[in-house]
Amino acid sequence: MAQHEPERILLAHGGGGQLTSQLIRELVLPHLRNEALSPLGDSARLELGSTSICLTTDSYVVKPLFFHGGDIGKLAVCGTINDLAVAGSRPVALTLSLIIEEGFEKPLLERILQSIGRTARENNVSVVTGDTKTVERGSADGLFINTAGVGVRLPGVNPGLDRIKVGDKVLLNGTIGDHGMTIISQREGIEFESRLVSDCAALADLTCMLFERTGVKFMRDATRGGLAAVLNEIVEGAGLAIEIRDANIPVRPSVQAAADMLGFDVLNIANEGKFVAVVSPETADACLELCRSHPLGRDAALIGEVVASQGVPLVELRTKIGGRRIVQMPYGRELPRIC
Ligand code: MG
Repeated sequence: MAQHEPERILLAHGGGGQLTSQLIRELVLPHLRNEALSPLGDSARLELGSTSICLTTDSYVVKPLFFHGGDIGKLAVCGTINDLAVAGSRPVALTLSLIIEEGFEKPLLERILQSIGRTARENNVSVVTGDTKTVERGSADGLFINTAGVGVRLPGVNPGLDRIKVGDKVLLNGTIGDHGMTIISQREGIEFESRLVSDCAALADLTCMLFERTGVKFMRDATRGGLAAVLNEIVEGAGLAIEIRDANIPVRPSVQAAADMLGFDVLNIANEGKFVAVVSPETADACLELCRSHPLGRDAALIGEVVASQGVPLVELRTKIGGRRIVQMPYGRELPRIC
């Protein structure tokens, strides 16, 4: 009798969409379930004596290593800071592990390390420990980076999906799709009239200000899977629905043109300097104003609101001409190795 073929991991299992979530729920969680892990937040919250911290880890496999607006090093520092920041903490320290392919050019590695150093200094975090591994030619694509990050939780700040209620507003701190469309167009060697630039940025300065001065109930950075993935995670976790208005979602015309041309839905495209915040209706205008006063929130917008779920928690988009469509959780196949 023929042997049963084992199921295999697909590239799409790393896409941050349905397949990633399935992999984590079916294969990872059953073996590792615990109180800190199970909420599957951007960071784990831990109590160490009288100190409350956030801890996160990320790996970076972006291709190409250098792109308009950043590089794998800047991406690694910003991405780790952002996972700490949106969980309601002030990032303090990072770890840095380099997995380097034999033959990788030292000057390229130095450029990346310079970028890591600069981004860390600019954001008041220190790289406090690390590791260096090398693998044979062909076993890695130049360089992979893994980081961990620790942040100190902001006192009295306790974001959670359970705090979300019908009537809450959904705030986005700027344009979507910039990072993903920049990466894919550079990878495909396509140049557009106005150059696309990644939004890669560390958000902690802005998020700390928002958490400390306003009533933000929940926040998540919209990375892999884009705005669509984050909104779907929110409705699933909160058991409510969200209605967003297409006309309110900021998108650069050049990014929209690139997405249309290459056949992508900009809602599914990765960002590296964007968060979605759920805020109470009473504080929504103040949150928006505060966001817009910060360089990383100038194009912020209130894009929709939380509504009651009619059985299934759905994200619905009201189109510019008054139609409605359901925004689904992306499958994960859209854009491999985007971060
Ligand atoms: Mg995140």
